[in-house]
Amino acid sequence: HAKQLGRARHACYAPELGERVADKIRVHERLRLALATGEGLVLHYQPQVEVASGRMVAVEALLRWHDAQLGDVAPARFVPVAEATGLILELGAWVMAEACRQIARWRGQGLALRVAVNLSAQQLRQSDLVEQVAHNLREHGVPPGQLELEVTESQAMADPQQARQVLGALRALGVELALDDFGTGQSSLAWLRELPVTHIKVDREFLHDVPHDAADATLVRAVLALAHTMCLKVVAEGVEREEQLHWLRALGCELYQGWLFAKALPPQAVQALHAGQGAHGHALPA
Ligand code: C2E
Ligand code: MG
Ligand code: MG
Ligand code: MG
Repeated sequence: HAKQLGRARHACYAPELGERVADKIRVHERLRLALATGEGLVLHYQPQVEVASGRMVAVEALLRWHDAQLGDVAPARFVPVAEATGLILELGAWVMAEACRQIARWRGQGLALRVAVNLSAQQLRQSDLVEQVAHNLREHGVPPGQLELEVTESQAMADPQQARQVLGALRALGVELALDDFGTGQSSLAWLRELPVTHIKVDREFLHDVPHDAADATLVRAVLALAHTMCLKVVAEGVEREEQLHWLRALGCELYQGWLFAKALPPQAVQALHAGQGAHGHALPA
């Protein structure tokens, strides 16, 4: 009887596993096609807002993919596949080039927003990454300070020595650097001091329940204190409610990003939002 049960359980489990692999293969095939044809992949841009003034000063470029067969595919589904198959290098190169093209387009319209681009772990290990970034800045006439590169805390800590070296070279180009999803990895504070980043982005996991959750509130306060002693700016991620923003303002957090202000938007909507900001900073609701 036990044997039968065991076999039955096995029979249920195996197809599910197979389906997950099949899904990854399909996602990989379709993504490769999207990159080859240039169809279906776009960047949307989520505003980063100065807490004190309410002004949008930067945006984070976030990949959006619509596939004819798969429909809308979330980054959480295709980015890990791209990372596992190496396609992330091609995808990352496309994102970098497209973000720089967009900075140039906005500059042409008198809009000087800084654009933050996410780097994957493999890009960080790519030998010609620094060259690629420099090339894109030149090609599109982008002032280096208008580009920001985001690296997650866990990526940086996977090989801190190497991260320090690459980030140092990128910083030398004049681009801004952010440590993304901060709080979810295991940073040693000693290494944090060694990383030449300009911004720390506190993961939205820690912002979700503030100010009510005492443990999360303590952590965010500690990150702010630490960042400020190192002259780094803090970006609070995932701000959805007015009470979170009030609390962050009282603590002197520099920037926030979240649905309270806006979700990731197509470029034209970012322009419209900027135009609606007027002289007073505080944006009209979109
Ligand atoms: P991330 O870099 O931490 O990006 C922030 C994520 O939080 C985005 O999800 C954004 O839409 C979401 N978010 C922003 N504000 C709020 C909020 O108020 N509430 C909630 N619940 N969520 C909010 P998204 O766009 O699904 O991207 C997920 C992850 O996929 C990103 O996390 C990043 O790690 C990765 N990703 C996206 N685009 C790229 C890319 O171009 N290259 C690489 N390497 N990774 C990317
Ligand atoms: Mg990010
Ligand atoms: Mg993040
Ligand atoms: Mg995150």
